[in-house]
Amino acid sequence: MLHTPHLRARRRRTAAALLASAVSACLVAAAAPPTPLGVGDRLFPHLGNPGYDVAAYDLSFTYSGSNSAPLEAITVIDAWATADLERINLDFAHGRVHSVDVDGDPAEFTGAGEDLVITPEDEVDQGDWMRITVRHTSDPVYTGGRKGGWVRTADGLAMANQADAAHLVFPCNDHPSDKALFTIRVTAPDGHTAVAGGLPAGVDRAGGATTWTYRTRHPMATELAQVSIGRSTVLRRTGPHGLPVRDVVPTRHREALEPWLEKTPDQIAWMEAKVGRYPFETYGVLLADATTGFALETQTLSLFERKLFTDPAYPRWYVESIMVHELAHQWFGNSVTPRTWSDLWLNEGHATWYEALYAEETAGRPLADRMKAAYGVSDRWREAGGPPGAPEPPASGSKTGIFRANVYDGAALVLYALRQEIGHLAFDRLQRAWVSGHRDGTAGTTDFVRLASQTAGRDLSGFLQAWLYDAKTPPMPGHPEWKSQVPAPAAGQPAAAGGAADE
Ligand SMILES: [Zn+2]
Repeated sequence: MLHTPHLRARRRRTAAALLASAVSACLVAAAAPPTPLGVGDRLFPHLGNPGYDVAAYDLSFTYSGSNSAPLEAITVIDAWATADLERINLDFAHGRVHSVDVDGDPAEFTGAGEDLVITPEDEVDQGDWMRITVRHTSDPVYTGGRKGGWVRTADGLAMANQADAAHLVFPCNDHPSDKALFTIRVTAPDGHTAVAGGLPAGVDRAGGATTWTYRTRHPMATELAQVSIGRSTVLRRTGPHGLPVRDVVPTRHREALEPWLEKTPDQIAWMEAKVGRYPFETYGVLLADATTGFALETQTLSLFERKLFTDPAYPRWYVESIMVHELAHQWFGNSVTPRTWSDLWLNEGHATWYEALYAEETAGRPLADRMKAAYGVSDRWREAGGPPGAPEPPASGSKTGIFRANVYDGAALVLYALRQEIGHLAFDRLQRAWVSGHRDGTAGTTDFVRLASQTAGRDLSGFLQAWLYDAKTPPMPGHPEWKSQVPAPAAGQPAAAGGAADE
């Protein structure tokens, strides 16, 4: 749910209330030191924070021209308190905090775990709006094996926050269940170009630097924010129904990349034919001059590493299907955001599904072949990473470790089984109903199971329970001959790389 920010002055406490709360504050302070909180995500217990709902972020970054120097930043958060709050926890774990204001008054702050714990001068009451302003640095250099957030490119920076790295870049409620509108402002020295998700909302040039402002028209999860700063060119074209498409490419590679970029409008039209209207105000691809090892569906501006498009080792059909994978995420994962990280299969299973379907329809690579191969290894994926609906927690130190094959081809296999069970027509209706019914919202596995049953006109909870949660892969409807294989199919098959090379 999205609340429109409406700020009002908070009432000051009376002297008596102040006195009373001063006493209780001392007791509370003595009894409960600031602690990291979370929204109870099974896989990331400390992500997100209870007690408020963010409506809007306004992020301002000042880039020095060096991608190894911290950026100066101001993060302004408009949020609505859903509980009485003596303290406000934000997720923020990398960078220095200079100051914090709550509704214009200076507030005390301290770190606890990966949280920034703020004690406002006045307690925030349930139902109040609050505006939190944090002045801080945003450091693109990580040590100790921590990855994510800023990605340093050959000519600047890009962003890759999934799953839990947005709070390495800016203070936030870093969980996909709390989506918000974003305004992103970047000031960079002349010669650089900055682009962020959403549409441009102003360019100001002054004193050898330029400030670009971008604004989203749809709510976005923190993990899906994108900011590109570099010696880049922005190429504009038009997608279906006049959709503005803009791609961001390193200027020196522009010509080599153009044959790939011009495929996007047709890919959007292909996806629209499958599931309905593209859900956002713009789309495009950001080709970063960096070795990331993944592509990422950042909202309205998907991130890819340039090498995917310029290294002839990647087959053409494979590159195109990965482009469609990230495009499909704009519906599945971005417009409809997972309620918890255990619902990740809804993102990756669907993106893998359309990736594979596109390869079938445009490159003659049968979906059934890929699904049969997946069936052969599915039991071992479940053993290694848990069943698709209940992935194992990431190994410590590797928080992106939930992106395993069980939620890619392993979850596409669940969708294939469902289509086998209910037929193509009901399956297509389900997909369309899912993205239209939950547009701009969050939804979880139980919502999907319920909608599947409604759409098919019969109870599918037992069927999907087994496919999503059992340790062993159930028999495939219509393919009793499909068997679990030992050992795995040959490594290096591009189809299987979906789980490893792409997020
Ligand atoms: Zn993906």
